[in-house]
Amino acid sequence: MAPSAVFRCIAGCSGSYSLEQVIYRCPTCGGLLEVAHDLAALRERSAEEWKQLFEARWRLTDDPWTSGVWAKHEWVAPQVRAENIVTFGEGTSHLTKVPRYANEIGLGDVRIKQCGTSHSGSFKDLGMTVLVSMVKQMIANGANIRAIACASTGDTSAALAAYAAAANIRAVVILPRGKISTAQLVQPLAMGALVLAVDTDFDGCMKLVQELADREGVYLANSMNSLRLEGQKTVAIELAQQFHWDVPDWVVIPGGNLGNVSALGAGFEMLHALGLITKRPRICVAQVAHAHPLYTSYRASWAALAPVKAKTTLASAIQIGNPVSFAKAVRALKAFEGVVESVSEAELADAAARADRSGLFTCPHTGVALAALEKLAARGEVTKDQRAVVISTASGLKFADFKVGYHEGTLAEAPAPKFRNTPVELPESYDALREALLRGLDS
Ligand SMILES: *Cc1c(COP(=O)(O)O)cnc(C)c1O
Ligand SMILES: [Zn+2]
Repeated sequence: MAPSAVFRCIAGCSGSYSLEQVIYRCPTCGGLLEVAHDLAALRERSAEEWKQLFEARWRLTDDPWTSGVWAKHEWVAPQVRAENIVTFGEGTSHLTKVPRYANEIGLGDVRIKQCGTSHSGSFKDLGMTVLVSMVKQMIANGANIRAIACASTGDTSAALAAYAAAANIRAVVILPRGKISTAQLVQPLAMGALVLAVDTDFDGCMKLVQELADREGVYLANSMNSLRLEGQKTVAIELAQQFHWDVPDWVVIPGGNLGNVSALGAGFEMLHALGLITKRPRICVAQVAHAHPLYTSYRASWAALAPVKAKTTLASAIQIGNPVSFAKAVRALKAFEGVVESVSEAELADAAARADRSGLFTCPHTGVALAALEKLAARGEVTKDQRAVVISTASGLKFADFKVGYHEGTLAEAPAPKFRNTPVELPESYDALREALLRGLDS
């Protein structure tokens, strides 16, 4: 029996649908779908054999095995044929130990999973390689798909534009006119995506893009499409592998639409079900106070989602008030003794800056997760003898304005930066230079 997978309703409605079918929601209840794998077929290899296979594929030099996602091909999207895989060698990201940072916040073992060290600069690549490869295969099999579209402005559109361009499929980015800077869009523009700026807000764009998908043969790449989560799931598998088939005590991850934590949970579930791990990590989702509907639900014993109007935040990729994957995220958190933390703008900015001082260059979303870890440590929930992993979601290089604003002290959201560092300006004089050097090294 070859490994295979289908779409199924997460609420348990009957029916399953081919991964090559254009379907985003359960036709019975309208709820979310997920990719369900044939575990019996996967069990034909023992846990030990899977470990050996994954070890053998780690960082091979030939595509598609260069990719951390496709190195787990059978567990991700087994029906995608090798000739349809579109990859930029995503995944296989470094798990960086940060002893200086850990020590400063009173912990013993903190590691950063560098998911932002990736082709387009965020973890969105991990999901997009799967979605675009699947669409390439659907087109090869005769499906009438004219383009792939999304309604995001930031990391999703950058990833979509890159993979679609490589596959020679048109990418369409739909966004609210006048609300997005060229800097945020420079990646999709450079990579030739069709960028449509509409006189509406984000929800309006989302509605329009769904209508396009229903009526015009445009495939939807937004995160209700659960193919993306299959690629993102490999973060959990890589983590277990990097801990020699063990798990850390804690994984802290920033959450907006909550697809990423759902994927993380799904990855650990699969590892557990197939016997590659026996322990379960605890998971903490970190949200910003300006957009924390999951935190509100958690504090009220997992009350139903009450959508909020998200306020502007430095962590722009998680400024989401009505998270699509809420139900999947709650399920994952319940299964992994999960907690939810909420942090302020100043807290996320200072946490990012503190981590940078041990050589990182963290994006604001990673700062959210770090600030949450600092709170868990201060409360004694994460202890010095435990191992904690923080999922870094994007490269800090994509958020240069945030870094510049922090160190110049011009961020309205973080007016009193704790770790500000500015250049010392000097006349052309050896004595002045020497004095500044000595003073600087002393402080
Ligand atoms: C998309 C994104 C997130 C949030 O992930 P969700 O799946 O929406 O919870 C966090 N950080 C960055 C950098 C992102 O691009
Ligand atoms: Zn259903």
